[in-house]
Amino acid sequence: MLKTSLAKTRNAFASALASHEFSLTAEDVGRIIAVTGPVAMASGLAGVTSEELVRAEDGTLGIVAGLEPGKAGIILLGSGYSLKAGHEVKRLGRVADIVVGEALLGRVIDATGKPLDERGSIPDQPRSPLENPAPAIMERLPVAAPLATGIKVIDALIPIGQGQRELILGDRQTGKTSIALDAIVNQRDKNVICIYAAIGQRESAVAKVLHELREHGAMPYTVVVVAGGQDAPGLQYITPYAATSIGEYFMRQGRDVLIVYDDLTRHARAYREISLLLERSPGREAYPGDIFYIHSRLLERSTHLRLDLGGGSMTALPIVETEAQNLSAYIPTNIISITDGQIYLSPELFAKGMLPAVDVGKSVSRVGGKAQKEAYRDLVGQLRLSYAQFEELETFARFATRLDDNTQKAIERGKRVREALRQDRYSSLKEYEQVAVMLALTAGLLDRIEVKKIKEAEMVIKEAVLRDLPHICAKIHRGGKLDAHDRETLLDLCETALARLFAKGGP
Ligand code: ATP
Ligand code: MG
Repeated sequence: MLKTSLAKTRNAFASALASHEFSLTAEDVGRIIAVTGPVAMASGLAGVTSEELVRAEDGTLGIVAGLEPGKAGIILLGSGYSLKAGHEVKRLGRVADIVVGEALLGRVIDATGKPLDERGSIPDQPRSPLENPAPAIMERLPVAAPLATGIKVIDALIPIGQGQRELILGDRQTGKTSIALDAIVNQRDKNVICIYAAIGQRESAVAKVLHELREHGAMPYTVVVVAGGQDAPGLQYITPYAATSIGEYFMRQGRDVLIVYDDLTRHARAYREISLLLERSPGREAYPGDIFYIHSRLLERSTHLRLDLGGGSMTALPIVETEAQNLSAYIPTNIISITDGQIYLSPELFAKGMLPAVDVGKSVSRVGGKAQKEAYRDLVGQLRLSYAQFEELETFARFATRLDDNTQKAIERGKRVREALRQDRYSSLKEYEQVAVMLALTAGLLDRIEVKKIKEAEMVIKEAVLRDLPHICAKIHRGGKLDAHDRETLLDLCETALARLFAKGGP
């Protein structure tokens, strides 16, 4: 209630200021008392409110963040090098906001709306405050439709639904960004708008992402919002909020949106730096007390809206970097508790070349299963179980000299499941391809095939299904349930296709 009424006041304030020519009075002007790296203190500015935008006389923009009697803390959105004590600072008469709208598609901008690509200025567009209240519970619908990433291990075992918040976490260089990018690229032709917020990354890493998005034709439906590691911490801090406002605009139009925050660890660090310099008292790991709140109010804005509100959705994939696989550090645990599940990437699997390095045992999707297409559901339980059993047995089997037949079988099956879940980058699989391969796996058709030939068998199955059973493919795509007859037909086809491979001197 309080949140909604605060938001209403804030919106009323913003629109009142936008609709009237803002005329400055003495109360709206102040002087910089001190500049400490990414923050400044100003005196005067008696009429200012929190979150308002101010501009100093050297042109540096700032957001008012802390109000004390006679003083205002300002988060600087520029580097602040030329800003000095004694400079004048003025209210701009509006809360910090960002351009939103169709014209942003395909563009690369920063969190103030400044274009960073070579395509010139952005045509006149609507604007939206950086901080918008999250939709109320009554405005939301449960997650109902799947968001296909095209990555087998995720779509089958850790399915994501539209409107869900699924955390991707893991150590450095474990393939976190790759999963998010694959998911974005897979939205081509699916009418999903994608937003990629790059926070605190190296310039070369951002350039690589942009190159990949362009190369795979993802830019026309994607907006990239960037604040690099060399940018002001203030800019890094507001980037995910700006990106979310852009996504929210599309969601409110009834569109489906996928938003990636890469990554929130760096976001938290930027906020910690700002907070310490604003002299807020440090808490655990020196983060300020409201670090949980800054992330929860961000991620709460992703949801699936009620049909009479357009029925749009925003699916969030926040990324968090762990250190030495420590899932119980402060920021990872915070964000795990805010999201609806996590995809954990293990450096050990990565080192073994099991890519994507998803640790199935430590990953979970708490709501996506309900949105998963029917054809997957019967398969997944069995697959997860046999995989989990295998992981346990594999460790145990290293010490045992002789194994009974059943254990041996479970291990052999597990090896094949793991091999089938391996996937190169940008090789997304359609739902029917995934279902056919997994059905063959769980039915034991692949047990006879050598592990290193599994990929070949997968290709054969994929081709055969599309060629010979288009009606079953369509049924899977529609979300229909496969009956006993369909399964039999599918398995017969897989068996014939695999037999042909054998005959050709294959596996
Ligand atoms: P950082 O911590 O630096 O942000 P990250 O966890 O985001 O790293 P990525 O940059 O996504 O990791 O991936 C690291 C490397 O692993 C990249 O070179 C990427 O191409 C490679 N990689 C990731 N997933 C796969 C895959 N499924 N198949 C082959 N290579 C992969
Ligand atoms: Mg990365």
